[in-house]
Amino acid sequence: MQIYNSLSRSKETFIPLKPGFAGMYTCGPTVYNFAHIGNFRAYTFEDVLRRALELNGLEVKQVMNLTDVDDKTIRGCQQTQQPLKSFTAPYIKAFFDDLKTLNVQPAAVYPAATDHIPQMLALIQKLFDKGLAYVSTDKSVYFSVAKFASYGKLAHLDRENMRVGARVADDEYEKDGYGDFALWKAWEPSDGDVAWDSPWGRGRPGWHIECSAMSMQYLGESFDLHTGGIDNLFPHHENEIAQAEGATGKPFVKYWMHCAHLRVNGEKMSKSLGNFFTLRDLLEKGYTGREIRYVLINAQYRQPLNFTFDALAAARASLARVDECVDALTETAGNAVPAAAPEWAAKAYNAFLAAVNDDLNTPEAFAGLFELVHAANVAMKEKNLAPEAAAATLGLLDKMDHVFGLIRFGRTPKDEAIPADVTALIEARAAARAAKNWAESDRLRDEIAAKGYVVRDSKEGQKVKKA
Ligand code: AMP
Ligand code: ZN
Repeated sequence: MQIYNSLSRSKETFIPLKPGFAGMYTCGPTVYNFAHIGNFRAYTFEDVLRRALELNGLEVKQVMNLTDVDDKTIRGCQQTQQPLKSFTAPYIKAFFDDLKTLNVQPAAVYPAATDHIPQMLALIQKLFDKGLAYVSTDKSVYFSVAKFASYGKLAHLDRENMRVGARVADDEYEKDGYGDFALWKAWEPSDGDVAWDSPWGRGRPGWHIECSAMSMQYLGESFDLHTGGIDNLFPHHENEIAQAEGATGKPFVKYWMHCAHLRVNGEKMSKSLGNFFTLRDLLEKGYTGREIRYVLINAQYRQPLNFTFDALAAARASLARVDECVDALTETAGNAVPAAAPEWAAKAYNAFLAAVNDDLNTPEAFAGLFELVHAANVAMKEKNLAPEAAAATLGLLDKMDHVFGLIRFGRTPKDEAIPADVTALIEARAAARAAKNWAESDRLRDEIAAKGYVVRDSKEGQKVKKA
């Protein structure tokens, strides 16, 4: 499999550190609000990457952190006068619900920053031992970038014009303003009771240290893959390398991968610009998680993707084509035992696989899927597909779907009866929605889910089916 490594800025063959296994760390959400679909472009890209590695026979251990302490979470808990953990809990739950809606496979571990303060303190101590950390006049602890010779290798920084000793306390900053970055921030009154004791005084971790500490905790000092959106590359990932390699003296990550942004009218979708949709916004408008996933993974991950409602409408039409074909193949196959796949199916599958293995070229991979759908429809129309061949074709679609996560196999009959208690909840939810009581609507959705049914909102109202 070929993947583009941001470190070498070139496509490389993926060779795992340990045969048959890939350790993968993905920077997760800051849980101060609902994630927007720009964030989910990153998480669905990582999901496709992981699924592609699995299709190639690798066992993948994916770790995704939850940033539950930073400037934004602290501000949020001050404003709502809640303890940090109570403030972040509903957003963590919402995030997991959203991942499920988008059919993103769960990571092996979701470590939260606030549960790993001792690991971060130990890592900072190592950096002191190596002479790479110092306490500044503001009582915060900083990483000295001048003392770490390879600082800037990921972002290709200009070290010649480095302003030695300049410091940045903020978690996020631009390349041209780089300097020593905060490992531990001294307590300030605006932090309230969000603080931990450390050998350097009360305070809280800088943002970057959590990912070095938690990735090494769960994946070891050297691991295969580290991913995120392109905005994570600098300073976050550059700083992660400095902290990890500075402390261990070993190579931290072999392959760095970054996805391009989801945009709206040419601008990055972001909270600060206010040009964002949450997943919930789109579900309320009647789109499904499946349609949204389709749009997000349909573009190659390194290409910017402009979000439009036209793309969602196109996704609906494309998925309907796939569904119809899969239903017809299922009917044709009956209970037949799969035989050899027809030549056209194998050819389409090989085109799909070659595309996936060429740095996740998803547009080409989808072309392989639709080539198969088209050829299958022709064969079925001409009554030229034996049940055994249809069964084999479904087998190939199933393998394709290990990467796409979009195909519906063996759908339940439309008229399956819904039990009375679920019907009552659906009616209550319709009333809550008519009253624009979204909190109650969400609560009822969860209650319906607990009974084993999924409810989706469409223009015609709620659609309910067995989970
Ligand atoms: P944050 O919660 O801001 O730390 O972002 C979580 C993840 O979403 C990171 O990997 C970001 O790089 C990514 N991300 C944020 N905005 C976008 C966007 N518009 N398009 C793609 N990825 C994004
Ligand atoms: Zn991170």
